[in-house]
Order: sequence, then C-alpha cells, then structure tokens
Amino acid sequence: MKYSVVELAESIGGQLLVSNDCLVNHVSIDSRSVQNSSSTVFFALETAKRNGHDFIDSLIQKGVSVFVVSKEMTIHHSGIAVIQVKDTLLALQQLAIYHRSKFNLPVIGITGSYGKTIVKEWLYQLLSPDFLICRSPKSFNSQIGVPLSIMLLNENHTLAIFEAGISEVGEMSKLAKIIQPTLGVLTRMGEAHQDGFTSLEQKLEEKKQLFVSVSDSVTYQDELTGFTFPFEDKSSIENCKICVAVLLKMGYNKLVIQERINHLSPLALRLEMKKGIENSTLINDGYNISYSSLVLSLEYLKAQAKAFPTTLIITEIPETPFSDSKLIELINSSEVNRLLVVGTDKINGLDKEIELVQYYSTTELLAQLKEFSFRDHYVLIKGSRHHRLEQVAKVLEEKNHRTVLEISLNQLSDNLAIYRKKIAPTTKLMVMVKAFAYGSGATEIPLFLEQEKVDYLGVAYTDEGIALRKKGITMPIVVMNPEPETFMDLIKYDLEPEVYSLEMLDELVKDLIVSNKKDYPVHIKLETGMNRLGFLPEQLPALVQYLYAQPEVYVRSAFSHLSSADDLAEKEYTLKQLRKFDDYSSYLISNFNYPIHRHVLNTAGIENYNDHQYDMVRLGIGLYGINVGEKVSNIKPISRLKTVVIQTKKLEKGDSIGYGRKTKAESAMTIAMLPIGYSDGIRRSLGNRKFSFYWEDQACELVGNICMDVCMIDISGLAVRVGDEIEIFGKHNSIEDMAKAMDTIPYEVLTSISQRVKRVFYKD
Ligand SMILES: *Cc1c(COP(=O)(O)O)cnc(C)c1O
Repeated sequence: MKYSVVELAESIGGQLLVSNDCLVNHVSIDSRSVQNSSSTVFFALETAKRNGHDFIDSLIQKGVSVFVVSKEMTIHHSGIAVIQVKDTLLALQQLAIYHRSKFNLPVIGITGSYGKTIVKEWLYQLLSPDFLICRSPKSFNSQIGVPLSIMLLNENHTLAIFEAGISEVGEMSKLAKIIQPTLGVLTRMGEAHQDGFTSLEQKLEEKKQLFVSVSDSVTYQDELTGFTFPFEDKSSIENCKICVAVLLKMGYNKLVIQERINHLSPLALRLEMKKGIENSTLINDGYNISYSSLVLSLEYLKAQAKAFPTTLIITEIPETPFSDSKLIELINSSEVNRLLVVGTDKINGLDKEIELVQYYSTTELLAQLKEFSFRDHYVLIKGSRHHRLEQVAKVLEEKNHRTVLEISLNQLSDNLAIYRKKIAPTTKLMVMVKAFAYGSGATEIPLFLEQEKVDYLGVAYTDEGIALRKKGITMPIVVMNPEPETFMDLIKYDLEPEVYSLEMLDELVKDLIVSNKKDYPVHIKLETGMNRLGFLPEQLPALVQYLYAQPEVYVRSAFSHLSSADDLAEKEYTLKQLRKFDDYSSYLISNFNYPIHRHVLNTAGIENYNDHQYDMVRLGIGLYGINVGEKVSNIKPISRLKTVVIQTKKLEKGDSIGYGRKTKAESAMTIAMLPIGYSDGIRRSLGNRKFSFYWEDQACELVGNICMDVCMIDISGLAVRVGDEIEIFGKHNSIEDMAKAMDTIPYEVLTSISQRVKRVFYKD
C-alpha cells in the first residue's frame, strides 16, 4: 500500500508546498536508519535530542524526496516534495490513524506497567502458527513509537499486536485512536513510570483509555488453574497467564494452549552487551531475528562501534530471505566489516569489502569460530532462537570470575529523561562520567550518553578524557582536574580544561603557544565556599587582565561547586554560595563581549535549588539512580551487583571461619563461599555479621573476616547450592544500605567496585 504525496498531505491536513510523483510506504524520523530512500517520507520531529529539520540536506543526499516539516523552508533541490504542518509529531500520528483505518483485522493492544514487551513477544510466538503478525519492534510504545509501529502494517498481515506505554495524563487517548485495538490487554500495574501521575488509580484510569474501542471486558481467574507454566519466577508466570487469557478469549482449546506454552522461549528479552575475547565487545541480541529488529540492532552496533571493526553474526530471517534486496542493502549500508551467516540462502550483491563466510549450521560455525581474529571487534550476534546462537556468544565471551555488575541502559535512559524534565529546555546538560562513570562503565555509558545527545561530558583527569576520544567520542569533554604535565595531550585530544589558578592558566597558555593554537576553550572554576579548588574573588581582576592579553584561550564557562546542596539544614550556607557565585560570575562575564556559560548545580542542586540552573547543570550521581536531594525523584538505580556460590561447607559447633578465626559456629551451621572480596570493593569491616547479602529473598550474613578475593556467608537452613546467584546489592539490598553499613556514601560504594568485576549492559 503506497501513498501519493497528495494523499499524504490530505491525510495529515498539511499544506503541500512542493509536490512530486513519489509513492511512499515507509516512514522515517531518524536520518540514520533510512533504508528504502525512494519510498520513504521523512517527518522532521523536534525532540530534546535533535531537530529533524537539520538532517533534511543529508537525507536528500541519501535519496529521500518527501518531507513533512513544521518550519518555513526553501529547498534548493528539484524533485523534492515538502508538506508543511503545524506539528510534525501530530502529523505522524494522523498518518498512522489514516493508515490504521485501511485495515480491518484483529488488533491486540497491550498496556500496563510491567511486562508489555514480553507479553507481546510471547503472544507473537503463541499465535504465529495461525497468523501473519505485525507487531511493534522492540518496545516501540511511545507517542512516536506507536505510529511508527502502525506504519509497518501491510496487506499480508492477518493480526497485529501493539504495545502502548505512557508517562503522562492525556497520552493514552491519543495512542488508543491510533491503535484501535479490537482486543485489549492490561498487564501488571505498579510504580514504573509514575512520575507524571498523582496516584496509581489515576494511572490505571489513564491506561484504560486504550480500551475505549473494545466492547466487553473479562477477567480470567479460575479458567487459568490447571495450566502448567514452564517458568519458575513470579513475573514470568504472571505474564504467561495473561497470554493464556488472550488465547482463551480468542477461542483456543485448552490443550492447544498448553502445548504451545510448553514451547515458549524463556530467554531474556533484551539486548546484552559484554566484553569478549581479544578486547572485543559482544552485543548479543540472540533471541529472535526480524528485518525491523535487525535495523535497530545495526543502528546500536554502529553507535557503539564508531570506527572500530565490526562483525555481524546472523541466521536467516524467515520472512526476509537474502534474495530480498532490501536486506542486502541494509547490510551494505551498515558499515559491517565481516558477515558470518548460518543458513543456505544464496547471498547476492554484497559489497566487495565485506568479508562473507556462510555456514550450514551453528555447529559448523562454532567449529570454525576460533579461526577468526576478533581483536577490538564489535560483534553483533542475532539469530532465531532455534539456531542457539547463545553458544557462539559463550565461546566469544571473556572468561573471568563470575561476579557481575549488571547495568540497565534503559534505566539510565529513564533517569536521564526525569532530569531532562526537571530542567528548562534551554538549560544545557553536562553529565559527569568521571571515575569510570561512577564505576558503572568507563566507555559504554559515555557512548550511550553521546547518542542521547547530552551537551557535555565531564571527567576528572586527562587520561579519562583520552580514553573516551580513543573510543571515538567527539562531543565536548571537560576535564575537571587536569595536571599540567598532561596539557600537551589534553590539547592534542581536544579536551577542555577546568582552570582554577593563574599559574595553571599560564602553563596551559605556554603549551597552546607551542601547539600553535588560538581561542582554546577553558572553564573557570570559582571558589564560593567549598574551599577546594577555584579562583578567589580578589584574584579575578588579574585573571581578566591575563585573559585580555592572551588570544590563545577564551572562557567557555564560569562555574562553581556547592558543598552541601543535599543537606537542607545547610540551606543558608548554600544560598550564600549561590549569591557569591552570581556576584563573581557576573563580574567575570561583564568583562567579556562573548557569551560565557554559567553553571553551579550538581544532582542535589538540581533537586533542591532548581531555580539556579543558569545556562547548564552538571548531573552526576542521580543519573546512576541514587537519590540525594530531599525532594525525591522517581529515579532508580541502574546497577545490580551479583555473584555466585562457588562452594558450600557444613561446620560443627566451635568451628571457626577464615583468617583470625573471628566468627565461630555457636551451633552446627552451613556457609557458602563467594568469589568476591575486599579488593573488589566489599569493605573488610562488613565481615563478621555486619552486613548481609541475599539468596533469593533470604538475607545471609557475612561471616568471618572478608578476604582479598573471597568472602563467606551464613546459609544455615537454606537450600543454597553451588552455582546459585547471590545478590550483593540490587533488588533487596540498596546501594544506600551498603553505604550505611560501610559508614560512607553511595558514591564510594559505586566507585570502589574493582575494574576486574565484569560489567554487563542490558537494553530492551
Ligand atoms: C562530580 C561533580 C559533579 C556531580 O556531582 P553529583 O553530586 O554526583 O551530582 C558536579 N560538578 C563537579 C565539579 C563534580 O566534580
């Protein structure tokens, strides 16, 4: 089904400025992911991250010739169609409504706080034998994601499954008009995405808006007994029951349902990124493969890999064989260097530069895998479940001890969105990624933030900045504490220094002269009460005079740092600091005729002194999900530290545990050994029952002195076995709990987790 430009303009109520005779059936909002240029209409959306209008020229280069815009524009190319509307997002939604109205097929609409995506994917698996299904790719469930999902509907589909997610009142009725479900599904409700609502009831009412087009409502309870579920965890069983209810409603026989449930894939529904052999990075998205999800994964691969070499390992896609030129086009345009394929489909038209090796089976691929060098490669692994590509991931995985810090990039993104809402649209955002991004991922987190279009990254030392540049990050990076010995490197890698004394500035200027640089940006730190680094007010006139004389540097920003923004008992002191900052920075900027950014708020400052944003804020700990302000935001921790039991032991009364015999068994007891110790960040003072880790939801006290690489917990009376997972912090222990027990602050807990602990990143 293709639309002419005239029909398109009519369907979205737009004004056709210039027309052409293109027929379109693809919609794009992101210049990076355009695949079928000649049949694509581009909607220039304006979001916090980017303004789509800026990409029109490059899209014309790529062959796109139909645009929906909200700005007056003159386009100097011929053959381009332009439709002008007031609001491009609204127009996209209108087009989706129009497109949806062309189809008369069953549509399942899913909403709820948890499990939307998994329920959607399971319904897809369960119903695939009987229907050709169109479904939202990944978790495309927003005001933008839903219309994009709807546009994937075509004449061949016999069923559609879409999810709808909301963050504010009023959003669902818009999504309902677009999806028009004939069958509605409500998954579990809870606290997720609660920020935009006053209560759970209000959120429930809002979610129900999705179901206005559905005629009757049923709740299944008793009918669900008698089924057995191939899962053990509560939430999987809950989600599975929802799927059963849908199939019952659709008239399926109980035996058929049970049979299909038995084959449901229990695999985690998310993309996983971890370190591989030879300094490679594995992006494992091995649970399913479809053309549209491959588009998204390749985008992610490209954003992570930048200039590093890439390998794509895939299986055949059932609906899109390699004879389909769009798949080959996709791979050719993706900057993949090496393609390893499991499958027999003939591949034609692949770029000569792409190294291609094809295998009949995963077993054959596994046998050959070690023949390749993966040195510094980014490897995307993507295949259908029955090909078992997870075995490939296992072989390529870096082997080290089994303590893992799990990091959710989705939660990071949610936290970022919460802080973006707290600041004015014009306020710039610097994110502090010093100390390996607060221990959470030295380069992975900054790479992610660059994609998320934050304005600046902040690091402590020059080395940290260089590491980011070497990973291909090109955005501005401020170095808070650069040592003069590193200035030549700092200049070479285009890093922007904080300057806190005249002596330091003079050193920098000397190196800039040697490097033949003019107008190099510096950030002036002002002392307002922290009594650490920074210019005192009486030093400012001399600073101004110096800056007048030296064309090598210019002041990009003036800033200060609050000592107690998290402590409202010190409010008076903080307000005094803020007044001083206003004074000193005003003096500085009044002496220059170019714009100088001002910034003073850290996370706690954003929470408690939000009306002092000036031109920029510097977000740190809050992004990682730790609450510091008194006004608690709905942010959540992004990380979870876990390990596994490597041995268990029964002790008799009187036996002692570990070095120094500090814990003795008062009666028979059982202990478990864990491969994590004080050198990994588990403070030695937590031993001898000062703190507990968790096995399932049972607290197990640490016993004996903590050793360098190992510690012991009390598992008396529990059915703990070797290989079981133990949580150090996460769901049960909070990072704050652990900090309290260590008599420190969460910052120290996070940054003390040693670099030998493997970081694994997840993304839905
Ligand atoms: C680390 C740092 C921040 C961020 O502080 P949080 O309390 O983590 O938000 C802000 N500004 C400067 C100068 C910093 O060094």
